[in-house]
Amino acid sequence: MPSTPAAKHFENKRVFVSGGNQGIGQAISHAFAREGARVAVNGRHREKLDAFLPTLPTVNAGPHLSCAADVADEQAVIRVIDQTFREFGGLDVLVCNAGILSESPSEDVTHDAFMKVMNVNVTGVMFCVREVLKRWLDTGARGSIIINSSVHQIIPKPAFLAYSASKGAVGNMVRTWGLEYASRGIRVNGVAPGAIITPMNDAWVNDPEKYKTVSSHIPMGRPGKPEEIAEPVLFLASEKASYITGQTLYIDGGLTLYADFAKNWSS
Ligand code: NAP
Repeated sequence: MPSTPAAKHFENKRVFVSGGNQGIGQAISHAFAREGARVAVNGRHREKLDAFLPTLPTVNAGPHLSCAADVADEQAVIRVIDQTFREFGGLDVLVCNAGILSESPSEDVTHDAFMKVMNVNVTGVMFCVREVLKRWLDTGARGSIIINSSVHQIIPKPAFLAYSASKGAVGNMVRTWGLEYASRGIRVNGVAPGAIITPMNDAWVNDPEKYKTVSSHIPMGRPGKPEEIAEPVLFLASEKASYITGQTLYIDGGLTLYADFAKNWSS
């Protein structure tokens, strides 16, 4: 008897992924499309998005959507969320993944550099979530929101003050939204990756010595792959996670278990 193809878990679902054309976001967009979802892929550059979209698996529900916008630009976010609801006829899952970092000793951090990170990693997340919530509540629709945070939500990152502050902030935003919308069937959760092989980390990913050093700090002995973040994102967005809200899932090869304590060095 011919075997029937495995059921797709997000057939006919509609998903928006900010920063969805590179790194972890790219893996998330691919995973949702593989499972049958139409994906609205956001990034700042239209040409990059137009080149990326045809690499996604095609789905029965219709074409994927290119949503060029800087998430820190309120009007641009309103435009692309509007466009997505119009073209897709609604939305089932929002993934706020876009994020940036910048390095500087804290005594030298400028207002501009600090705000640039906060504007993307915190305010950008707020704009996307607010615009989606508004539309769901207006129509009585329900859905799931996943925010990409970082282990630096709880592990301090010296010389990356704005990054640490921004990820701490989104952790509390997830808990606030989780509580605020729990009774209305809207779930909001976070994922907090450890060190993942993406273009954001080119500085150590492409340097064998630095790669070895990074790996040596991770209890599992290696950095993670973008797909290892994407699959838990799909889980949190799915019905399998129907009773989970306001939580952050650390996906870090044990990094938040504090590698230095693997062997006892105190009493
Ligand atoms: P990445 O490789 O640098 O990719 C970032 C993505 O965000 C790109 O698609 C980029 O596209 C988009 N983006 C950047 N600024 C944007 C803006 N203002 N508006 C819209 N899109 C924007 O980064 P990644 O490593 O995949 O990281 C993704 C998320 O995971 C971030 O939130 C990051 O903090 C978090 N994270 C990463 C790691 C890690 O080790 N990689 C660890 C913990 C947490 P364009 O450049 O085309 O705009």
